[in-house]
Amino acid sequence: MKRLQLHHWILIAMVLGAALGLGLNWAGVRGTVDPETVADVATVGKEVGDLFLRLLQMLVVPLIVSSLITGVTGMGDLRTLGSIGGRAIAFYLTTSFLAIVTGIAMVNLVMPGEGAELAMLEEGAAEGLVAQAPGGIGVVLWEQLESLIPKNPLAAATEGDMLPVIFFSLLIGVFIGLAEHREGSKDASVVRRFFSGLFDVMMQMTLFVVKFAPVGVFGFTLYAAAGKGPAAFKVLGWYVVTVFFALVVHATVTLPVILKTMTGRSPIAYMRSMTTALVTAFSTASSNGTLPLTMQNVEDAGVRPQVTSFVLPLGATINMDGTALYEAVAVLFIAQVYGVDLTLAQQGLVALTALLASIGAAGIPHAGMVMMVVVLNAVGLPTSAVALILAVDRILDMCRTTVNVWSDSIAAAVIDRGT
Ligand code: ASP
Repeated sequence: MKRLQLHHWILIAMVLGAALGLGLNWAGVRGTVDPETVADVATVGKEVGDLFLRLLQMLVVPLIVSSLITGVTGMGDLRTLGSIGGRAIAFYLTTSFLAIVTGIAMVNLVMPGEGAELAMLEEGAAEGLVAQAPGGIGVVLWEQLESLIPKNPLAAATEGDMLPVIFFSLLIGVFIGLAEHREGSKDASVVRRFFSGLFDVMMQMTLFVVKFAPVGVFGFTLYAAAGKGPAAFKVLGWYVVTVFFALVVHATVTLPVILKTMTGRSPIAYMRSMTTALVTAFSTASSNGTLPLTMQNVEDAGVRPQVTSFVLPLGATINMDGTALYEAVAVLFIAQVYGVDLTLAQQGLVALTALLASIGAAGIPHAGMVMMVVVLNAVGLPTSAVALILAVDRILDMCRTTVNVWSDSIAAAVIDRGT
């Protein structure tokens, strides 16, 4: 018999976790098992999953730093860096925008908020959620720009603040190159070799950590299925369906068409080679945590390391198609629930702020939901409305994170072909 590969194990773990979790949830609802026991099992699942996520997160900072520096020094000249960077950003913006358009079209078509009973929703809503609500759109933009520059790069790394770490690593890469070209400087190349060695070590460590993926995936799926169960879907069913189908359209039509036309690659084959990363993104709901695996999978699919080492860390931080789409759908849904008719111009504003919110959202679980406050603010909806959709955020987070990572991997393939 053919030996099962890692991604098979991951899929099996996911199915087992979901089956066990849903079974327990059902038994809990019917009273055959004490609901508290079900909640305990869900918590244990989350603890186990969190351990795996921590292992992944442990890799992220040294991996990003060494990979970006190695990537930049490997490009040879600054013009290549500029051209890859420009293309990457153009790609990120275009696909996120397409995702938003898909979401807005879908939410106008399905009208999930129409007839939803506000009272019923509010009953299940948690109070005082968004205490740390960010300010308006201008403030968010400015803060984003400001936060690019770390006062202390080491502190930013310790905090896991990705954008400043990325910015500083890019600068180190650029200046290693410049210093190496100065006459009489012998030592700068030592720094380059150090980071390139560190990168090799980090990739090896990733290979080791990923072996635990089935355990982590099992834990997280168990947590989601046992803890939430299908009950949450009853009230918010149409909303979940709308987000889900819009994500599916973006992931299986828009992005594959871009991949196929721009690289000639088969989307199905490419998706298959991304299985480990996609399933991990789904279960952990963190594109940042998944980054080590995304890099591994994309390189295994034949994309050049110079491209992956630059495009993927940046993408995991700012390219979030799934999150952008979700922000737009969620806010329009909330408007429908409140009976607020948004004009076309206001929907345009939602689209724009959703794009910014997705860029600003960190690649960690639930980050998109917190950023949604910016979008709600932009069209004058109450920020506390976020609480309405809290109950189903985990499952939607899992779905949108998968789309985020899928879009990052496609960006890498497209940019690899174009440079
Ligand atoms: N969890 C998402 C991610 O890591 C961000 C979000 O909450 O939308 O990509």
